[in-house]
Amino acid sequence: MSTANDLPFKVLADTFEALESITSRTQMTNILASLLKKTPPEIIDKVVYIIEEKLWPDWKGLPELGVAEKSIIKAIAIATGQSEDIVEKTAKTLGDLGKAAESLISASREKQKKATTLLSFVSTKRELTVSRVYETLARIAMAQGEGSKDIKIRLLSGLLTEASPKEARYIVRFVEGKLRLGVGEATLMDALAIAFGGGSFARPIIERAYNLRADLGEVAKIVAAKGIEELKALKPVVGIPIRPMLAERHNDPVEILEKVGGVGFVEYKYDGERAQIHKKGSEVIIYSRRLENITHQYPDVVDYARRGIKADEAIVEGEIVAVDPDTGDFKPFQELMHRKRKHDIQAVVKEIPVKVFLFDLLYANGVDYTVKPLPERRRALEEIVERNEGLDIAEYITVKTPGDLEKFFMEAIGNGAEGVMVKALHKDSIYQAGTRGWLWIKYKRDYRSEMIDTVDLVVVGAFYGKGRRGGKFGALLMAAYNDEKDVFETVCKVGSGFSDEDLNKLPDLLKPYIMERKPVRVVSNIEPDVWVEPKLVAEIIGAELTLSPLHTCGVGKIRSDAGISIRFPRFIRWRDDKGPEDATTSSELVEMYKRQLKKIVEKPSEGEAV
Ligand code: ATP
Repeated sequence: MSTANDLPFKVLADTFEALESITSRTQMTNILASLLKKTPPEIIDKVVYIIEEKLWPDWKGLPELGVAEKSIIKAIAIATGQSEDIVEKTAKTLGDLGKAAESLISASREKQKKATTLLSFVSTKRELTVSRVYETLARIAMAQGEGSKDIKIRLLSGLLTEASPKEARYIVRFVEGKLRLGVGEATLMDALAIAFGGGSFARPIIERAYNLRADLGEVAKIVAAKGIEELKALKPVVGIPIRPMLAERHNDPVEILEKVGGVGFVEYKYDGERAQIHKKGSEVIIYSRRLENITHQYPDVVDYARRGIKADEAIVEGEIVAVDPDTGDFKPFQELMHRKRKHDIQAVVKEIPVKVFLFDLLYANGVDYTVKPLPERRRALEEIVERNEGLDIAEYITVKTPGDLEKFFMEAIGNGAEGVMVKALHKDSIYQAGTRGWLWIKYKRDYRSEMIDTVDLVVVGAFYGKGRRGGKFGALLMAAYNDEKDVFETVCKVGSGFSDEDLNKLPDLLKPYIMERKPVRVVSNIEPDVWVEPKLVAEIIGAELTLSPLHTCGVGKIRSDAGISIRFPRFIRWRDDKGPEDATTSSELVEMYKRQLKKIVEKPSEGEAV
């Protein structure tokens, strides 16, 4: 690259030095703006990345520098002709390796100057440019596998040999990950607005472009080369992640509805992993909430999306939720963490199947939906999605009253959701990429606590299994004993915690008690595949007690429209020593629920002195 399209690295080093002594943000922004203005557009992305203390945007999944401290010490030693011991000692005295490199390089140059034969070589030495530094750093990062440690050391020491003492200070700090300029994304965006947009009023345009590209280097390059108008026209691109829209939190249905303008589009809030799914032809990429490429963790989701998203090009968003293969119930989101281990992904896919619940459309076949109101996005989403066994659209309703919101909220948690998302649907309800605002409000269960005690519940029904448990029973309907009314009231459906042996024995165990109709003493809103006479008692533990409109235990005691249920129940063992009337009573469960609430209310909040 000719120097006309490049920048001496010295300019960057001088700017970094100037930034070190500045505390005012305005001053910092102005210094950065003037640096950006004098940077040729061809390399401005590299300058931005270096200021951001990275080599490329994280979502590209490219390697990091990966140079250990010991290797940096070695590289400095080679470049300066000193021992590693001296380098370490100098770093201790001066406070950091960057300063040690600066001082030792300075000393070795002095020595060279004195040796007259070398003088002419030193004075005609090539000036380091940003491109040269960046490309060498990129090669250091890309060196992987066997022998890469030595290659990294060689490349770094070579770079330091070419650097001035001050340049060496910043190169070493960058490689160590300790540049610490204190320049945040917001300051960089302000600087870009001043440099290329005529002032900080252009900041929203820069910000929107950043939200659509998740790459400030790229945004800088576009605006520097083509001007601010070009940024205004940016559209989402399939394959490039969009920074996600985020929600505010609230727990008062009346105020929630006020905030969204009186009418709310209310959806289940699923407890899983957020996924931004990009599809082009048959190619599918999945990005996480933090914009990491997580495609390899979800080969099943790739398949569901490929089959179910009918648009040739699309960007959709949804929540990936783990489901119990036997009961179809949601599982805790921690189950998805098993997918982070890459090696046995196929086995995990079978063991912990997932479902995706889509809730937004950001782009389809050339149309930028981020600027369209929510109802239009959802209509288009329905049009391009053909549901399949792993791909669905989030459950929703439109509500106008707090009562309806509360009812849907109860239904959502009763069905295993974490709460609801209330979304505005007025004409300005656009997809605000990268922004947390009141267009989306999360309304979660307020009170959560661990369920410490186990309970003993009575089997009143059974469900046939699916998947691995096909042809056998896969889950049981469990009830508490209401000793005032002498009835059994349902609490949960349990499908977890059974060993294969337990499951194999179930048909024989249940056989004597299977009934054609609902046993008279059972109060249930749920219809199991087979009814079971209340005889068998099992010990159950769960994550917490919650309210659910599906279950009948203690209805009317806490709320008129919901009973007590157990979230994520697990079978522990049979309690042959207990008869059905010895099971945990409904009123005991109500008391447990109240205690759980009290405990949380009394618990000092984080950071408060105990
Ligand atoms: P946040 O994402 O708001 O920073 P967080 O990571 O703690 O906070 P939550 O408090 O659980 O997440 O709430 C927001 C998340 O809820 C979203 O990022 C998304 O993953 C998830 N979610 C589940 N269902 C929906 C839905 N229907 N619409 C939007 N988001 C949903």
